[in-house]
Amino acid sequence: MKFNIQNTFTKELPADPIQENTRRQITEACFSYVTPKKTSNPKVLHVSDEMAKELGLSEEEITSEEFKNVFTGNKVYSNTQPYAMCYGGHQFGHWAGQLGDGRAINLFETVHNNKNWALQLKGAGETPYSRTADGLAVLRSSIREYLCSEAMHHLGVPTTRALSLALSGDQVLRDVMYNGNAAYEKGAIVCRTAESFLRFGNYQILAARGDVKTLKTLVDYTITHHFSHLGKPSKETYVSFFKEVADRSLDMVIHWQRVGFVHGVMNTDNMSILGLTIDYGPYGWLEGYDHGWTPNTTDNTHKRYRYGSQPEIVLWNLYQLANALYLLIEEAKPLEAVLEYYQEKFPEKYMQMMREKLGLFSSKESDGKLVSDLEEVLKKTETDMTIFFRLLAVISKEDTVENAIKKIEKAFYTPSEIVDEVKLFWETWFQNYLDRMQNETVSDEDKKTKMNAVNPKYVLRNYMAQLAIDDADKGNYSLLNELYLLLKNPYDEQPENEKWFAKRPEWARNKVGCSMLSCSS
Ligand code: AMP
Ligand code: MG
Repeated sequence: MKFNIQNTFTKELPADPIQENTRRQITEACFSYVTPKKTSNPKVLHVSDEMAKELGLSEEEITSEEFKNVFTGNKVYSNTQPYAMCYGGHQFGHWAGQLGDGRAINLFETVHNNKNWALQLKGAGETPYSRTADGLAVLRSSIREYLCSEAMHHLGVPTTRALSLALSGDQVLRDVMYNGNAAYEKGAIVCRTAESFLRFGNYQILAARGDVKTLKTLVDYTITHHFSHLGKPSKETYVSFFKEVADRSLDMVIHWQRVGFVHGVMNTDNMSILGLTIDYGPYGWLEGYDHGWTPNTTDNTHKRYRYGSQPEIVLWNLYQLANALYLLIEEAKPLEAVLEYYQEKFPEKYMQMMREKLGLFSSKESDGKLVSDLEEVLKKTETDMTIFFRLLAVISKEDTVENAIKKIEKAFYTPSEIVDEVKLFWETWFQNYLDRMQNETVSDEDKKTKMNAVNPKYVLRNYMAQLAIDDADKGNYSLLNELYLLLKNPYDEQPENEKWFAKRPEWARNKVGCSMLSCSS
């Protein structure tokens, strides 16, 4: 295996001088060197051929013993020194102090086709940041991260990626619903990849400790390596850096709303500085279009991270990053201007995205009402988000209201509920929609093509991931591979896979893993 190693992170940033792997507070440093734990009987279950290609790895390389050993932590790749990053974060709105890579170990950075990739093992053992936990990961959460991060990439959503999924051969003790029912599960390791894994929390922890010197070093490093188009680091560049982080985070969350993705734990330590979706924990996909839904049972009381709140939470998180950067900029005004800019930009971008989902390519003042009316009527009866928007593409402006409703009927969980008042609401909405379509000049065929490029046909519904997990637990990995292949082309019609273009089955409605997920992983 040949990698073009370029470890700028460890070369240019201050390291924790202590190399002993003990749990502690690490100050004046951005990372600690740490060696992954040896696994007893590693077995590679899946490799993303797409990601392997990005890294320049051949078929022969990804099936080699060396690949297995390096990406399960049993062998350190030559001339590299793995490390865990130091970060803090606000968890559920409260400052939590030092968190850090408690169960992620960065192997190295490599450059291929002019792209920088950091390669990181998730679940490879404890680090100085593991706090009270074991540094390990189980198969179910690893499958969820592996499948979903690759699926998100193919949906066109900015995200960290995944190279491989492996069993460690070790058993890991977990209490899935935190109710005193701990049990052993299969341990697993995902090798995930990203241009960088830096999070808001990496900057916040330094600011919280008043370590302006290291904060400046880290921000300058970030700009030099990941935002070099902004120019040499200076106070002005720090502001434009913050603006770009705001822009990228906004883009990311607009994509989430477009595809119906709910992150589940939008703590500031789970906010990538590059605007990538990061840390796939108790995430979920909207089935019924419900703004109040969160899959995370840990967040059940306040639903802080519910679907409809995600854009607002990104803003809240940007405030926290602004507070950290203030120590370098020493002026609040330019940071406030960026936060105001986010608030102005969000409704614009959201409306544009919703117009595209609805197949409206011109812009009209009344579109806002059309969208908010739709969100209201979608609340009246459980309607599958993915199916609804996908089927909308086949509606023509010549359709009658009745025809139009017929065409999207498959999206209703209980079609018998479409009577009386609910039926009237739907009829009124469709009448307005059909009227609005008269202002559009694109042909039905072009409209369909454009709509199908933003409304996916296939997403990783919560129960689908769970079915793959149940099989994998029994040693059968064919569904894992089937879903991986399906989700490579989420916008394409795949007649042989029509069975996945279906509403969530009733058995999955209230099932752990399907609609209820905890942070246990
Ligand atoms: P998360 O909820 O996955 O974003 O994790 C929050 C913090 O807890 C991060 O610092 C993680 O590295 C750490 N963490 C989560 N699970 C484990 C684990 N099993 N062992 C050690 N640290 C963990
Ligand atoms: Mg995290």
